[in-house]
Amino acid sequence: MAEVLVLVDHVDGEVKKVTQELLTAARRIGEPSAVWVGGGSANGRATLAEYGAAKVYVADGSEYTDHVVAPQAELLATLVQDHAPAAVLVSATAQNKEVAARAAIKTDSGILTDVVDVTGELVAEHSIFGGAMVTHAKVRKGTPFLAVRPNAVPAEPSPADAAEEAVSVELSDAARSATVTERVVEERGERPELTEAAIVVSGGRGVGSDDFTVVEQLADSLGAAVGASRAATDAGWYPHQFQVGQTGKTVSPNLYIALGISGAIQHRAGMQTSKNIVAVNKDPEAPIHEISDFSVLGDLHTVAPQLTEEVKKR
Ligand code: FAD
Repeated sequence: MAEVLVLVDHVDGEVKKVTQELLTAARRIGEPSAVWVGGGSANGRATLAEYGAAKVYVADGSEYTDHVVAPQAELLATLVQDHAPAAVLVSATAQNKEVAARAAIKTDSGILTDVVDVTGELVAEHSIFGGAMVTHAKVRKGTPFLAVRPNAVPAEPSPADAAEEAVSVELSDAARSATVTERVVEERGERPELTEAAIVVSGGRGVGSDDFTVVEQLADSLGAAVGASRAATDAGWYPHQFQVGQTGKTVSPNLYIALGISGAIQHRAGMQTSKNIVAVNKDPEAPIHEISDFSVLGDLHTVAPQLTEEVKKR
């Protein structure tokens, strides 16, 4: 069966949910081999085995993690050249899209980004033009690189061996030129990670101030992540790392609740592929209603607390 490489997303050895989803998608195409960059692979191996990784290529060593993007691209390109996999799957984060794009160039191949579904024939459904259109596309040359959005493919377990194999590549001087100087850990308390959360509650200019309690309380009642529009982050009402949209994070949760967000194209670009969209907005003409599955016309400061109370009762 054809090998399919899956770049593992992990935090200190803890495998992120999106990797389980990628392994599930990879099994439609062939036999998944995980690619682990950095230390801690022993901690994640059980998860990789549970979701069907037949092999785990481990590239341990600080040279892969102390430099920005390029070493991982060279690693993936080398693995592609050595193993000729049917495809390479990465999660559609800003960093991984750059890693995959660089590796695709090195291997004279192509990349499809913001993929929301993929078939066994490697036809990818992906979101383009900032989420304005969904297309079906296929890379016709070389090994396709697919950057798949979190929450796009439901993760299903299927046990495999996850046999570890250490790999090492000769990195170029260029790959070592950009060094990581600081890592900032995202402050999000007990809430799920924004791009991985099954439910996201976002607040916009309609919240009216830097008091996001009304948004956070609804999010916490649902076990959701909190997001924000750029109007809210630019105003300093909520930290920039929670911005959803073209210049923020891309989310694809099962449920996206937009509180006081108009639905500008740049915001839609980051949340349009959410499975269910609920908008609370007092303006019946707001464009967010065009893409919502359920709209509440009203003041979010009245509606959201009522929703929170109802959710808490259940
Ligand atoms: P507004 O457009 O001002 O909408 C506020 C909404 O709240 C209105 O619909 C109003 O009816 C409603 N409202 C007001 N009060 C209440 C109330 N009490 N109860 C209920 N509803 C209420 N934007 C992003 O979000 N993410 C991005 O990544 C992003 N990237 C951009 C990149 C570029 C290059 C550019 C040019 C713009 C970008 N923007 C982005 C900005 C985008 O164009 C919009 O300006 C922004 O999304 C608007 O945010 P908003 O919906 O919160 O505010």
